[in-house]
Amino acid sequence: MADTQYVIGPDRRAAPRILILLALLAASCARYRGPELPGAPAPSGGPPVTIRALLPQGRVVSLDLEDYVIGAVLGEVSPAGLQADAAERVLEVQALLARTYAIAHLGRHAAEGFDLCSSTHCQAFVDPGHAGAATIQIVRHAAQRTRSLVILATSGPIEAVFHASCGGHTSASTTVWPSAGYPYLRGVADPYCVRENEAHWTWTADAAELLLALRQHAVTRVATVADLKIVERDEAGRVTRLSVGVPGEIIHASDFRTAILRAFGPRSLRSTRFSVARRGSRYHFEGTGNGHGVGLCQAGAIARARAGQSTEQIIRTYYPGTHIGNLEARTRGQASIH
Ligand SMILES: [Zn+2]
Ligand SMILES: [Zn+2]
Repeated sequence: MADTQYVIGPDRRAAPRILILLALLAASCARYRGPELPGAPAPSGGPPVTIRALLPQGRVVSLDLEDYVIGAVLGEVSPAGLQADAAERVLEVQALLARTYAIAHLGRHAAEGFDLCSSTHCQAFVDPGHAGAATIQIVRHAAQRTRSLVILATSGPIEAVFHASCGGHTSASTTVWPSAGYPYLRGVADPYCVRENEAHWTWTADAAELLLALRQHAVTRVATVADLKIVERDEAGRVTRLSVGVPGEIIHASDFRTAILRAFGPRSLRSTRFSVARRGSRYHFEGTGNGHGVGLCQAGAIARARAGQSTEQIIRTYYPGTHIGNLEARTRGQASIH
């Protein structure tokens, strides 16, 4: 998801914070983990204790993993508006995601002198000194309750990708990023995010500007978009391939969305779960969801926490077949959150 690749959403722009109740309207926060998903391999040695993080200001700091987790949770979710018990579970979920993601991608920027950046390429990170005392306290407690715990598959820490809202069904990683096949990143039905949030969006674009964006980002070399049409969808309803009306010119939907987001910003094509129709010289898109749609749906997780589901239930729903385990003990057994 290097900047030049598929960083999406708030991606290189402002570090997004999902406002929980306003939820998916903060669609601009569409955070996507780009198609270049498989990142650095998980470390083979002992558990890391230090993360070298590139802060938004361009400074590199060395942090204890647990301190890093606090900043990453602050960067990726806000407990505002949630009842205390639901907030605790949401923050626990996000702490597990943050820790698991950091472990799985440690050294991702090693060539640049640090481990993880603070954009959606890696994980958003907010300096705890910039957050309110009350927020810091509950985030810190969530990190402590999940200390050293990560989400594990039989292969080790999972690719803990997540997105703002799936719009009703998550997608398998292989349909969004064809080279990224993980058994726990499969599509699951998710009525929760739809129930609690307005996930519907619309966006229109001039046909000529659309073509320009696609050409600029090397998605197509055709001279004209004769007729933009959806060729294929996955089981979740996400578009996987489109035709521009030129024989043999098929575009993968992730590439299409990446080009659109780069050209028009994070509030344009918020997801690939859309339909499209031409009206005169403009294309009209209508869709649901926000983000790539793979892995955990933050809006759904929040709604599930509010409905009383446990942290473990939420994790297991979005990452089927995984479990929460203790990284330091190198165990694959179950672990509970205290
Ligand atoms: Zn990065
Ligand atoms: Zn969802």
